[in-house]
Amino acid sequence: MGRYTTIFWDLDQTLLNFDRSMEYALQEVFVQYGLEINEEMIARYAIINRSYWNRLESGELTKEQVTVGRFRTLFAELGITHVAPEKLNADYQRALGSVFFYMDGAKELVTLLKERGYRQYVVTNGVNATQANKMKLSGLDKIMDGVFVSEVIGFPKPMKEYFDACFATLPGVSRNECILVGDSLTSDMKGAENAGINACWFNPENRKKDVDVRITYEIRRLEELIPILA
Ligand SMILES: [Mg+2]
Repeated sequence: MGRYTTIFWDLDQTLLNFDRSMEYALQEVFVQYGLEINEEMIARYAIINRSYWNRLESGELTKEQVTVGRFRTLFAELGITHVAPEKLNADYQRALGSVFFYMDGAKELVTLLKERGYRQYVVTNGVNATQANKMKLSGLDKIMDGVFVSEVIGFPKPMKEYFDACFATLPGVSRNECILVGDSLTSDMKGAENAGINACWFNPENRKKDVDVRITYEIRRLEELIPILA
């Protein structure tokens, strides 16, 4: 084992393919409510959703304001007035937690790292019930040593307080033996910087680094983490 003993994994769009789950869940609930849904609306929802989560990461909005607000905004744009965003959101969260899709090579990698003796934790800003369901369905709950959901912790990634609370439950683990792997510059990479731990940016689509944040490593495929850990 090299300098790292402990890996903090982001969940959505790092280990699990959130975009596929999102499309599935949106289609499920829109059909359930008798609403029309198409690719364009899904794309628009994804943009609105992202902007709401950005405002959670910056501490501006609560989880509740984010999850309901994104549908309120979407409905206003689409002229949907006969469905309560609170109600549809609750069903959407349920649908989202009822399916999972691994990112390429993710399950093989975390299984291998477990065999090699690394401690692995999930660090996620998702909704607790949804994330717990996905962990269980995917079998990740058996592979991971623990999961830190912001809703339970009381602070979101990338706040320093979030990571302080994580480390408080991991006595004997020093920050310089930890590495955080995630796809988001604003929550994962910024979070690692705030927490004082090294970070690996999972950037499969070769996105531009448009946030001023320190990154230790950058990878396109998850397997590229293996030599970094060696
Ligand atoms: Mg992510």
